[in-house]
Amino acid sequence: MPLSRWFIVSMALGATVSAEAESDPHSYAEPAVVSVSALALDLNVDFAKRELAGTAELKLHWHDASARTLVLDTRDLKIDKVEAIGSDGKAAAATFKLDARDAIFGSALRIQLKQPAPIVRIHYRSVPEASGLQWMKPEQTSSKKHPFMFSQSQAIHARSWIPLQDTPSVRFTYTAHIKAPKALRVVMSADNDAKHTLDGDYSFSMKQAIPSYLLALAVGEIDVRETGPRTAVFAEPYIVTKAAKEFEDTEKMVAAAEKIYGPYRWDRYDILVLPASFPFGGMENPRVTFATPTVIAGDKSLVGLIAHELAHSWSGNLVTNANAQHMWLNEGFTTYVENRIIEAVYGKDVATMQLVVDDQELHAEMAKMKPAEQLLVTDLKGIDPDEGLSGVPYDKGRWFLRFLESRYGRDAFDPFVRSYFDHFAFQSIITDQFLAYYTDNLAKKFPGKVSQAEIDEWLHQPGVPANAPIAHSVRFDVVDKASSDFLAGKLAAKDIPAKAWVTYEWLRFINALPAKPDLAQMKALDQAWKLTGSGNAEIAFRWYVATVRAGYTDARPQIAAFIERIGRRKLVVPIYEELAKTDDGKQFAIAVYKKAKPGYHPLTQGSVDKALGL
Ligand SMILES: [Zn+2]
Repeated sequence: MPLSRWFIVSMALGATVSAEAESDPHSYAEPAVVSVSALALDLNVDFAKRELAGTAELKLHWHDASARTLVLDTRDLKIDKVEAIGSDGKAAAATFKLDARDAIFGSALRIQLKQPAPIVRIHYRSVPEASGLQWMKPEQTSSKKHPFMFSQSQAIHARSWIPLQDTPSVRFTYTAHIKAPKALRVVMSADNDAKHTLDGDYSFSMKQAIPSYLLALAVGEIDVRETGPRTAVFAEPYIVTKAAKEFEDTEKMVAAAEKIYGPYRWDRYDILVLPASFPFGGMENPRVTFATPTVIAGDKSLVGLIAHELAHSWSGNLVTNANAQHMWLNEGFTTYVENRIIEAVYGKDVATMQLVVDDQELHAEMAKMKPAEQLLVTDLKGIDPDEGLSGVPYDKGRWFLRFLESRYGRDAFDPFVRSYFDHFAFQSIITDQFLAYYTDNLAKKFPGKVSQAEIDEWLHQPGVPANAPIAHSVRFDVVDKASSDFLAGKLAAKDIPAKAWVTYEWLRFINALPAKPDLAQMKALDQAWKLTGSGNAEIAFRWYVATVRAGYTDARPQIAAFIERIGRRKLVVPIYEELAKTDDGKQFAIAVYKKAKPGYHPLTQGSVDKALGL
């Protein structure tokens, strides 16, 4: 996932994670006893009932021969029947028990077996409110002709549509047979066939072993455009041509990443553009990234998100954090690789501006966080992993790797990272495994470059260490000069030299507005540069937050349109949070939310409820 900068709950005070391999605090599964090595799904997609129904067959690898219980994760699944399939292929009914529901983790499904069966088949149905699925009525789509549904399994929502070991420490291959209404296309994180006839009967195979959070399904009126020999864009018809144009550099990005980090191992890299209600920027589902349409700005200025999701093909999907407490291994590496891809494809200038903005925004975010929340390796026991999300694993993780890069130099660091991806390919690991590999393959080879105390400070201390490399953009010097002159009243809004500014220059400028911007200055900026109603969602949401702070209520109709149309949490939640700070703003926010809520994903609804204190 790309960074969501809205921030959340207090995390428990973080004792650092111990060296031994650990169990996942967010799963009931016992993979040390028995682990799933393959999944075969056979599901029917029923839009009228908002239900997935059918079977999941789990191929099991028993590590403890005396064990007879298989514990799976579920959330709100209706389990109709469980069968044990013997090595002779014969099915026998197995007894099972569904534990009481935990609000965060769901219900453990305990299957009792007479002997360690090689396969277990579960007959089940999802509920309409499944936390990992969004069901959209035809009128919520662009053409308004057909319904649309999609999954979002990360962090722990796969269990709301498949009974399985929902922990990234377990990897498995999968096949799926999906039946859906004719005329709709089914897309999965597997081998999608762009030429498949729309007959409602789809079969998929994913031959690379993946963790459960990368299981993905979408069904809707979905068109396809090829953008390269191994890249294509899937999207609703209204936007497929525009999306293909916006993402036409995807093959260049894949090639750039391969040059530094080794071959792309997932055969195809496709992008599915979802309806605007998708709660995230993107989700790195293997072979097919799920992406928000809000990154289609018309000028490729927000394709960093694609670089990010693509980078996950190495960091995250290939080498995976064994549980959410080590999320920086996924997101820090990915944010680092993303910036390297941007540098290779769009140049050092753009990559540096991204670094400066992200560093600044991380500092601003951390200023509001407790020290324990600022650690790279965290303690998330008893905490919903969705709520532990912040910029820390992303940007502090990325900054740590940039620190290592600056000390060792790219000549040494790039081959090290590549060998790290190769060494741990298709494995799920914790921070100590990274550290042991780092010590043997970088620190010992180049002694004296980085001390153990420095590493410990990055991983286990709050804040950003004083030795962090500081990125500097000369293009921002121009922006900063214009900004300070404008704010001091020495430069008229229309004379700001912004005609050729790219997105990052605007973000820098908007981020430099004071905590309570001057109303007349906001109006002047808007008149000169039409920021209200901007088609660039990154500029728009920061601008809207500033308009609320300034009391610039003329922007409200456009704010309402923005948050009614878009369900991406990063873009809408900060606006709701800012509006909630005044009585009048809160009333307006609640009125808009009333209209917007039915179109929001359950995850977004939860975040907005919290922002508005509902
Ligand atoms: Zn990510």
